[in-house]
Amino acid sequence: MEIHAWGLSEVGVTRTHNEDYFEIDPRRHLYLVADGMGGHSHGEVASRTAVQAVREYVEDRLPQADLSEDHLQSTLLRTAVHSAHEKVLCAIRQDGALSGMGTTLVALLMRGQTVAIAHVGDSRAYRLRNGHLDLLTEDHTWVHEQVLAGFLSEEQARVHPLKNVVTRALGSDGDIKVDVLETEIVPGDRYLLCSDGLTTMLRDDEIGRTLKSGESLEESCRGLVQAAKARGGFDDCTVVVVEADTDAS
Ligand code: CA
Repeated sequence: MEIHAWGLSEVGVTRTHNEDYFEIDPRRHLYLVADGMGGHSHGEVASRTAVQAVREYVEDRLPQADLSEDHLQSTLLRTAVHSAHEKVLCAIRQDGALSGMGTTLVALLMRGQTVAIAHVGDSRAYRLRNGHLDLLTEDHTWVHEQVLAGFLSEEQARVHPLKNVVTRALGSDGDIKVDVLETEIVPGDRYLLCSDGLTTMLRDDEIGRTLKSGESLEESCRGLVQAAKARGGFDDCTVVVVEADTDAS
């Protein structure tokens, strides 16, 4: 299977700097999006610290990993995200001015026919398969808890004034609970990782349409960010699109 990816991040119109951060590691097929929070420019520090920590962890451990181990990718990603949480906490301990910073994180690791996705917070992973878009992650937000309890609809949650309140973030006090899923890749699958700067501006059906319409991954990314901007684009907006293709050789 051939894997291709593209990513794009743009600062929100009401922001002075971009607190989102993403990385694409084509060698290890590791893809990451983080959305930082905190005063001054500390959100940027949190998102970059977390992404780099996961990348370094996977880089270090993957070559030594027992590739026959069941659920290797999800185990690796889970521990990598825990280590990123520790790194963010460590940065706060070393510099009191960073106190209160935190970040969401969504990480996708592909190997063979399997994809693992780990996340904390409200950055999301979607999968486009046979023209159908599925949301693969559940937001760790107060509004999503209200949806699950039946107090808000998905659409009310998307535009709610408290939509930004996350219930889990890397860098928050104590242990962190990481959600991880592992599933089979079907050739032709397109995976989207994104920050809430996209999903608070666009509904899922709009995201699906734009993701499908791009002839290239770059076009899909540009289309998504442009569509969020056209709706106001208040928040930083980051998208990473990964496509698993049938091997051309
Ligand atoms: Ca955001």
